[in-house]
Amino acid sequence: MTRILVTNDDGIYSEGIRKLADALRPIGEVIIVAPDREQSAASHALTLNRPLRLLMIKENEWIVDGTPTDCVNLAVLKLLKDHRPDIVVSGINFGPNLGDDVTYSGTISAAFEGALLNIPSIAFSALVGEHFSFDPCAEFAAELTRMVLKQEPDPNIVLNVNFPTAAFEGVRITKLGKRVYSEGIIERLDPRGRKYYWIGGEPPTWHQAEGTDFDAIQHGYVSITPLHLDLTHHESIPRLKPLEESLAHVAKTR
Ligand code: MN
Repeated sequence: MTRILVTNDDGIYSEGIRKLADALRPIGEVIIVAPDREQSAASHALTLNRPLRLLMIKENEWIVDGTPTDCVNLAVLKLLKDHRPDIVVSGINFGPNLGDDVTYSGTISAAFEGALLNIPSIAFSALVGEHFSFDPCAEFAAELTRMVLKQEPDPNIVLNVNFPTAAFEGVRITKLGKRVYSEGIIERLDPRGRKYYWIGGEPPTWHQAEGTDFDAIQHGYVSITPLHLDLTHHESIPRLKPLEESLAHVAKTR
């Protein structure tokens, strides 16, 4: 039987993970292993400096007092180690995970952890606004998951899916967009007169560019971006090659 691991970074009690798990149940056995509280922007953090607890709250539903990456590790390497999941599905996140923001995302990092463990993985996130509902997103997520399982998916590739707020115009296969960085640090004084800071004031804006994830959801399309973890900038290798020679003398001082 197909085994589906469901996780997220909004925590087990978020609506997005409930709707996603419910929609996936007709496809296979759904096991939820999710953080016990919100871990948004946890990125790819792994907890190494304190013990972790894995607690069953009902059949096939577990909470972890850690990050999304902790959840995927405990699920795959402990809980489900005798029958590993066929796919890791993360989300549906409350809020989009687009462009440059993918490196902050706990939702996407959970999917990357699935990929590192050699399991095909998909991350789902939704732009939330007026008249928003998780229902059509969950329905789409189930259909895409079904299709991915039917093909022979490449476990090195993570699909990053973002939903627009309103009715879907269609689907676009996209690349990551570029965020416009604003001076988003807010400085205030606490009641004792000491400064404190709050990161990110204004909602992000994006460079307009065709073919990007941002462009797709802005025009009402579901965006699917294939991601991989190899951050190597291959084009730079020949340009940097002369450094092997010119830095050789400092590299030989040991
Ligand atoms: Mn989140």
